[in-house]
Amino acid sequence: IEYDTADIVILTAIFAATIAYFTKGSLWGKPKDLFADLAHTNGSAKAGKTRDFVKKMAETDRNAIFFYGSQTGTAEDYASRLAKEGHARFGLRTIVADIEDYDFENLDTFPSDHLAFFLLATYGEGEPTDNAVEFYEFLSGDEPQFSEGASAEDKPLQNLKYVTFGLGNNTYEHYNAMVRRIDGFLAKLGATRYGTAGEGDDGAGTMEEDFLAWKEEMWQVVCKEMGLEEREAVYEPIFKITEDESLSPDSDTVYLGEPNKNHLEGKTKGPYNSHNPFIAPIAKSTELFSVKDRNCLHMEIDISGSGLSYTTGDHIAIWPTNSGKETDRILNVLGLAEKRHSVIRVDALDSTSKVPFPSPTTYDAVIRYHVEINGLVSRQFVASLAPFAPSDKAKAELVRLGGDKDAFAEEISSRYLNIAQVLETLAPGQTWSAIPFSLIIEGLTHIQPRYYSISSSSLVQKDQIAITAVVESIRLPGSKHVLKGVTTNYLLALKQKQHGDPNPDPHGLTYNITGPRNKYDGIHVPVHVRHSNFKLPSNPEKPIIMIGPGTGVAPFRGFIQERAALAAKGQKVGKSILFFGCRNSSEDFLYQDEWQEYASKLGDSFKLVTAFSREGPKKVYVQHRLQEHADEVNELLKAGAYIYVCGDAAHMARDVNATFGRIIAEKRGQTEAQGEEIVKRMRSSNQYQEDVW
Ligand code: FAD
Repeated sequence: IEYDTADIVILTAIFAATIAYFTKGSLWGKPKDLFADLAHTNGSAKAGKTRDFVKKMAETDRNAIFFYGSQTGTAEDYASRLAKEGHARFGLRTIVADIEDYDFENLDTFPSDHLAFFLLATYGEGEPTDNAVEFYEFLSGDEPQFSEGASAEDKPLQNLKYVTFGLGNNTYEHYNAMVRRIDGFLAKLGATRYGTAGEGDDGAGTMEEDFLAWKEEMWQVVCKEMGLEEREAVYEPIFKITEDESLSPDSDTVYLGEPNKNHLEGKTKGPYNSHNPFIAPIAKSTELFSVKDRNCLHMEIDISGSGLSYTTGDHIAIWPTNSGKETDRILNVLGLAEKRHSVIRVDALDSTSKVPFPSPTTYDAVIRYHVEINGLVSRQFVASLAPFAPSDKAKAELVRLGGDKDAFAEEISSRYLNIAQVLETLAPGQTWSAIPFSLIIEGLTHIQPRYYSISSSSLVQKDQIAITAVVESIRLPGSKHVLKGVTTNYLLALKQKQHGDPNPDPHGLTYNITGPRNKYDGIHVPVHVRHSNFKLPSNPEKPIIMIGPGTGVAPFRGFIQERAALAAKGQKVGKSILFFGCRNSSEDFLYQDEWQEYASKLGDSFKLVTAFSREGPKKVYVQHRLQEHADEVNELLKAGAYIYVCGDAAHMARDVNATFGRIIAEKRGQTEAQGEEIVKRMRSSNQYQEDVW
């Protein structure tokens, strides 16, 4: 086996990690979590919190701060992992910070012997994540105003030493734009970067390995510049877990999965948002198709009376619950099955850390509602479990896998195993009861709500949000293991229950369908709404060209529903042409009957063009159909048509983009480069919009 530098350092860290984790007093911080805050402050999430990070670092004696701009939790996870490592290996006194919790006017007063880390994901069209918008706007402004009044020319950030890593996806046009831009702004303002501005690529599936490789070189630079010496890395827990026998799961102060105090006390109230879900009734659920292992759901979620609202093209976030099968698996493998309903208090061992869910709670509730137990397993996390293995053999396996990225890819990642399956495989029949529960909470990400493009029009059904979701069920060739999507199988179970199945267990999974204390009974699901920029032209007479294969058709059902309703009211609507693709006209043709209905209402102003990839001798995709309709497409563009693309980011969106460039070039006698340039300009002026994932 060949080991690279990164691997050797990981191995060293693993060997060095000892049971000294029992030492009290962790110094790194775990990102704060507003659910916990809501629980403690009764709704006023930020009461009494300082927004001055320089002051906070001074008060808590820290010299390194790890800011994260995160949308799906990965940047947040990387920030907390780096902070832990920086403390354990190099003695940095660290704090993890949600970037939206602080103001940046005093970045110019950052002490020169301190270090700031920026872990920044890029979202959508090169945008900052929701929590990094203010930070981005501050630094990207013409003249950011710093506290000491220096102007940009005076290089006000000369004291600032920083490290940065971006999380991006190369299938998007603005790959890692956020980290590139922020790095540029900071450099221009006189700050000094240690190491390279790292870039992880989700599109190539190499995010974790990009991160691991980047951070080793970065630490070397940081050590040199700050005069740090590597020391024996020891695990120190962030949280103290105390079993509290005075409480039982029936006690009304114990959280059994309720996201905050209001939910616990049954007085749920708005505003409902990413920190506080609305427990919404599911008004209707159907399966649009169901073929062998593949099926697709249509659901209508009732938001009436919640104060939530949406406009056509927005997203709804669904808060999932882990399946009983996987909850059981991990509790068993950790040796916690028997005491799963014991009440535990989870407290941060350090004042800058926050418990990521409300407590007191139970092991069962933590695993079922708060921890992403099914996701892609991190090699670094696997390595960190070595000191707690139940046998020398299992420990040796963890060390081997932790240090060998190719073996890890082959044996773990590419087989889609989750963490409990990895542990089961490495030590069959044994339990891993030495793993501190704190390490599970720290090492696995918080379960994240999943987004769905709303497939209804707010004009037609303002209180009922429709979604169109394919149930994830992926069987790898030659393997018995089937990867089951967390949220979509939960939704399928809800649908089965709504249709009379008392014990739904899609694909052998079971769910706590009625939620904590049966609060979701009567078919409810926790949700919030996220507003998007994917919007119909304000002038309904403008023509639109929509490309939405598979579930990418979701928002276009909403668009067409809206235009049909406008037409019914006598409003003149522009031509709407929809390119839809799927495998087969008789298998997975979504909303087949509805399109006919809309056509009858919209007449000539609606046209559906289909691409069935598996019907002919050659595979036909939406971009081929687009090319075949080049003349019409070009005419519509000349008439000011807007382009909308929704669905698969990896291939489809890129191919469609290229096809538009080619069509414009061909039909207008331009070069391909000019065609591409025109498409680019359409994108920047919002005449070309994408909603891709
Ligand atoms: P998850 O459990 O999250 O799994 C998803 C994928 O993660 C798997 O397919 C696999 O590739 C990977 N994965 C998970 N676990 C592992 C593992 N252990 N090892 C390796 N890989 C793993 N979807 C729709 O169907 N319709 C929509 O309209 C829609 N709109 C969206 C809009 C936006 C803005 C975004 C961001 C996404 C949208 N999605 C939509 C996708 C949706 O949010 C979910 O990602 C999707 O439904 C899968 O969720 P899940 O929880 O069922 O699967």
